[in-house]
Amino acid sequence: MDKLEELEKLEEKYHMHTYARYPVAFVKGEGKKLWDVDGHEYLDFLAGLGVSSVGHCHPKVVLAVKEQVEKLIHVSNLFYTEPQALLAEKLASLSFGDKCFFANSGAEANEGAVKLTRKYAKLNLGEEKYEIITAYRSFHGRTMKMLAATGQPEKQKPFEPLPPGFIHVPLNDLSALKAAISAKTGAVMLEPIQGEGGIYPCEFEYLRGVRELCDEHDLLLILDEVQTGFGRTGKMFAYEHFGIEPDIITLAKGLGGGLPVGAFIAKEKVAQAFEPGDHGTTFGGGPVVCSAALAVLDILDSESLIQNAALVGEYFKRGLKKLQKTQPLVADVRGKGLMLGVELDRELAWPVVQKMLEKSIVIGYVGKKILRFLPPLIVNESDVEGVLLSLTMTLEEVMGEVK
Ligand SMILES: *Cc1c(COP(=O)(O)O)cnc(C)c1O
Repeated sequence: MDKLEELEKLEEKYHMHTYARYPVAFVKGEGKKLWDVDGHEYLDFLAGLGVSSVGHCHPKVVLAVKEQVEKLIHVSNLFYTEPQALLAEKLASLSFGDKCFFANSGAEANEGAVKLTRKYAKLNLGEEKYEIITAYRSFHGRTMKMLAATGQPEKQKPFEPLPPGFIHVPLNDLSALKAAISAKTGAVMLEPIQGEGGIYPCEFEYLRGVRELCDEHDLLLILDEVQTGFGRTGKMFAYEHFGIEPDIITLAKGLGGGLPVGAFIAKEKVAQAFEPGDHGTTFGGGPVVCSAALAVLDILDSESLIQNAALVGEYFKRGLKKLQKTQPLVADVRGKGLMLGVELDRELAWPVVQKMLEKSIVIGYVGKKILRFLPPLIVNESDVEGVLLSLTMTLEEVMGEVK
């Protein structure tokens, strides 16, 4: 039995069956490359779901983690640690916000942001203003409360009843949002570009309009930048594309270079609502993950990766748009920077992903029709050329098979 088969058997017997896994087991990563158990090399255009933005095992991240692991791994949040304090300062300097809180994941960052919103609303807006409006097709995480926030009924159904406090509106429809605002509304929470929902960007005028509506009605605007943050869309944070500032952003994926670290950042007047005892975490903001995150932020800057994401992303999107003109299977191309989606006109996403994997390229998918590209921000135009070529071939193969 080869190694992959062995792992498949172990998984089947001992791990709950919640993941539809790709038929590959990776053992090594470096930059934009991955190697599987048989030593086969792949080009990674998924980056572990938009996580390994600076590339796999970046030497500066590895060194930061190694040095920290040898000094101190954990002490809990009863004590001060330098990496956490420095990271908090750095996040404030990079964003609209003043204060942050560290969590272990995107879902947890969102949970914390919602708790902060509730407390802020109780203190400043009124006891009854606990409701948060989110969008259909949104994705905010897998905890019960974030499942309630996630506007995807098919994901929610098996787990009802869900915690109350969230209502959903269609994205990019300002009048629908306006109509949904009631005496109970305390905040609006949106992804600047919906990720897990299938790469659906907020339109420029829409998000600006949402900000105005929030100001008019005294609502907080929470942006879930768990996927769009840290250069993914060609800006440090995606809200920068819209010329607006949110009241809270939530972050995770790209922050830790692969280590689990999430955060939410708020303006001072909102952050003030939290007092000692209101929120906490055992592991969050530990010295190892914060050291990794500091290294990531340093690399984004020193290697100009955000500018690279903008330029290479634009090049990639142009290539995909060109493909849309010649390949009837391609129905739509969406996204910004290195967060791009291709909607197929048929349910062929998984076969395309598999054939790309056979060509040694890792890409992602959402549902049955949407291909998703979230490469590390270090990729260049010739990587993109290679992917476009393989994708063109793959789409032709798949077309040939369905005819
Ligand atoms: C991935 C994601 C989450 C959930 O993050 P986890 O770390 O898996 O909990 C939340 N919001 C958005 C926008 C995401 O892309």
